[in-house]
Amino acid sequence: MHEYSITTSIINILDKIIKEKSLTRVERVDFEINRFSSIEPQSIKFYFDFLTREHKVLKNAKLKFLKPGIKIKCSSCGNAYKVKSLPAVCPACLSFNSINADIDDIKIKTILAD
Ligand SMILES: [Zn+2]
Repeated sequence: MHEYSITTSIINILDKIIKEKSLTRVERVDFEINRFSSIEPQSIKFYFDFLTREHKVLKNAKLKFLKPGIKIKCSSCGNAYKVKSLPAVCPACLSFNSINADIDDIKIKTILAD
């Protein structure tokens, strides 16, 4: 259900971009997902296909989900580093840092369109 509301807001954003740029067909949309969030890319794809089945521009668009590492700053020594898996341990001072998994759950990175 979480993914359903995410998908409707994604489609709303895409609709705005489609209008602004007068796109006629969207081939692919690349997303960036917070790798520590609970978002299920498969569910988003499922709802997207369902919700855009009558959509002239978005129908049959492929979705790609990227999960880049998250950049954080160590709360003990201030060292900036990328976290790809948990727990987040600072490579400089080896202290543990907490990750905010709610931030930037998902964002549109690239849209491939005509
Ligand atoms: Zn540190």
